[in-house]
Amino acid sequence: MDTPSTEWDKTEFNTRAIHAGQEPDPQTGAVVVPIYATSTYKQDGVGGLRGGYEYSRTGNPTRTALEESLASLERGAAAYTFGSGLAASDTLIRSVLRPGDHVILPIDAYGGSYRLFARVFGDWGIEVTPVPLSDLDAVRAAITDRTKMIWCETPTNPLLGIADIAALSGVAHEAGALLVVDNTFATPYLQQPLTLGADVVVHSMTKYLGGHSDVVGGAVVVADPTLGEKVAFNQNAIGAIIGPFDAWLVLRGIKTLGVRMDRHSENAAAVVEFLEASPKVTRVWYPGLPSHPGHEVAARQMSQFGGMVSFQVEGGPEAARRVVDGTTVFTLGESLGGVESLIEYPAAMTHASVAGSALEVPDDLVRLSVGIESATDLLTDLDRALS
Ligand SMILES: *Cc1c(COP(=O)(O)O)cnc(C)c1O
Repeated sequence: MDTPSTEWDKTEFNTRAIHAGQEPDPQTGAVVVPIYATSTYKQDGVGGLRGGYEYSRTGNPTRTALEESLASLERGAAAYTFGSGLAASDTLIRSVLRPGDHVILPIDAYGGSYRLFARVFGDWGIEVTPVPLSDLDAVRAAITDRTKMIWCETPTNPLLGIADIAALSGVAHEAGALLVVDNTFATPYLQQPLTLGADVVVHSMTKYLGGHSDVVGGAVVVADPTLGEKVAFNQNAIGAIIGPFDAWLVLRGIKTLGVRMDRHSENAAAVVEFLEASPKVTRVWYPGLPSHPGHEVAARQMSQFGGMVSFQVEGGPEAARRVVDGTTVFTLGESLGGVESLIEYPAAMTHASVAGSALEVPDDLVRLSVGIESATDLLTDLDRALS
């Protein structure tokens, strides 16, 4: 696999997160990549571009820095960034699939990804089959001669299901299909799908990469530069780009990704230990638990288990709603991956749209995005809400 040939690629993750794609500004020495708030660029004579920039839909130096950073962190050949995670997915799908093609999607896929395939691309002749990706036989059985893509999420939302990326890439490649991994939950700090055989990584940068709940953005990272050229063409031709200020916010977030993910994982482990001991909690879903069905695979392909935790409470849906209404440090809200802890009730919030479908979630389930506050305060807050 090709990796960008910068010096930083030889360094370790936390060094790359701070430096890759982010050389000090050649003109002023500014150590932080500036926000290039410009739509166009002066040409030195017709076609005399300085650094290749001619118009900001096509290219912008702040966006370039973010894209080089992501390519380095995911060990990809190139990265492309967009105005949201779904805009990134949309551009990738249009770069790869054609009417009549078939896609396999996780049965517990992010609802927006399922909606994009089923309700938008369905009308353009793309067929989608939801399959439990932890069951490789079920994946093989769902493959047809039209299958061009396996779309994988691991861990999934909200039950933290785990798929074996290396095994799935074998199944996909045998069928002549691409393996795409939505790496939003793990981030490249915990898991690098391209090094395990995946062809493409997609991100909602809105979550851990941004990390501060202040930006919406998305990314596509490719292992194959030829596919990268198609995505680059469509990024410009379709135009769903990220703006320079938002790109800068994500770059700023990425610099602390490693320390944040360490703390998210550490705090989540403390929360899990507390929940496991609580008589009010009937089941805890976390890939770090040996009782989790995907624990072994997760331990193999992830360096830590991340900040997302779900649990079921005694007393059914009413009790679950009381818990999410009863916290003060955990903020009731959708989304995830920010420094602040969030709590939500998936059955009526993030997953309300999949009620009654194969993607339905238990009605006594509570989902946490464990933040980086002091663990003691998080445990006190949950203790109060549970009693
Ligand atoms: C949020 C999310 C998305 C969609 O990203 P947006 O930035 O909201 O468009 C895709 N996949 C996963 C796993 C997500 O959590």
